Amino acid sequence: MFKPSAKVWMNNHLVPLEEAKVSVWAHGIHYGDNIFEGIKIYKCIDGRSAIFRLRPHVRRLFFSASAIGLKIPFSMIEIEQAIIDTIKENNLVEGYIRPLIISGEGDIGPCPHNNVIHTVIGMGEWESYFNKETIRTKISRWRRDHRVMPFYAKVAADYVNAKLAKMEAEASGFDDAIVLDLHDYVIEMSAANIFVVKGSVLMTPSPDQAILRGITRDSIIRLARDMGIKVKDEAMINKNLLYDSDEAFSSGTAAEVTPIKTVAEEDGEGDKYTDIEEMPIGKECPGPITKKLRELFLKAAKGEVPEYAREWLTYVD
Ligand code: PMP
Repeated sequence: MFKPSAKVWMNNHLVPLEEAKVSVWAHGIHYGDNIFEGIKIYKCIDGRSAIFRLRPHVRRLFFSASAIGLKIPFSMIEIEQAIIDTIKENNLVEGYIRPLIISGEGDIGPCPHNNVIHTVIGMGEWESYFNKETIRTKISRWRRDHRVMPFYAKVAADYVNAKLAKMEAEASGFDDAIVLDLHDYVIEMSAANIFVVKGSVLMTPSPDQAILRGITRDSIIRLARDMGIKVKDEAMINKNLLYDSDEAFSSGTAAEVTPIKTVAEEDGEGDKYTDIEEMPIGKECPGPITKKLRELFLKAAKGEVPEYAREWLTYVD
């Protein structure tokens, strides 16, 4: 369960959570044209708290806004400072930060011009997205494709696709969905990226496919290369490669690194789906490469490796 902090930063003011409100006529409530970020703050080994990769998250916030024509009325530096101020105000030691740009009041047609923009930074305590050591997954009936929605940006409306995929997986008793594109290539999870290991090579779908360019994905690629693991970060992963892989895991700010134990698939098409077949991935879960990457990722996020701490962490004193 998410436990929201008491104070929210909204349009340049720190206000109590109960006062952080928008009108029912906010455009984004009707059409989902809001954008957001998800950032983690970890309690580090030395007792201090640090935001993990603040700058790339804030950069992606601005990228997502521009992808759907929203203009954030603050600079990146102002947003970063507001995040730090709000953490301090809330005394948040470890948790999840949610910057949110709301398409506000004005026109009510689907493509508004000059509507108010609300800039919000909320935060709170949240366990992992999965809260499980390993997950069982199902290939979703829902797809992601470039020509359908801007899945490369964190647009609220994209997450109806994520909800549908996760809802479908949970209805069949699985933890999460694996989403394919319209050509049957593996894209990502409901709200996390995916990696597979085949032999000694770590693979993940290409940024040219309908993926969100995850900041955890980027961190894992860097850590793996630093460990001497060969990485193919523009892989075209079809279902056969997935089933045949030695290891698979999901990566994300909230998901961190979560090993995938099994993948299931339904038979049938249209409304007529029949059997579900569930297959294990590799011989053991987590596999050795996943285990090593997971350990190093958490060490890096918690300030245990000076090189990554210098580059990736913003300490909040
Ligand atoms: N894909 C989707 C659809 C997501 O929602 C997320 C979570 N933000 C990710 C991938 C992983 O991105 P990140 O590592 O930046 O959290």
